[in-house]
Amino acid sequence: MATPDYKLAHTRVRSRYGPAKNWFCAFCGLSADHWAIDHDSPDLQRDEKGRAYSLDPDHYVSLCRRCHGAYDKHVAQHGTTGLLQLLERLWDSASDEQRDASRKGILSSIGCLLRIGYLRPGRDRAYRQR
Ligand SMILES: [Zn+2]
Repeated sequence: MATPDYKLAHTRVRSRYGPAKNWFCAFCGLSADHWAIDHDSPDLQRDEKGRAYSLDPDHYVSLCRRCHGAYDKHVAQHGTTGLLQLLERLWDSASDEQRDASRKGILSSIGCLLRIGYLRPGRDRAYRQR
């Protein structure tokens, strides 16, 4: 069965911020693959399959495949406690050289998004601030 709100939530994030691959992974700093729900967001909802979502696009973070998997696994096992340690581990698992390399690719795609009007400077952010 279709789950319109879950889909709508993802459509909203993409239409505001573009594809996740144009952003840094919020956890390790490499390039992201997915928009992932922030499991700490206040208005978290669940569809009938149990998937968490929010209709507020600002409650999503851009994550790479690996960090997204680690995040969801952690939350399933421990909830949102102990996330700081997980984040530190994921950040340390990527090297600065790797981050520099993905930064180059991402900055050129951010320039492309600015040109086509996806991102509005001063209003949208390159990645989430806590
Ligand atoms: Zn990552």
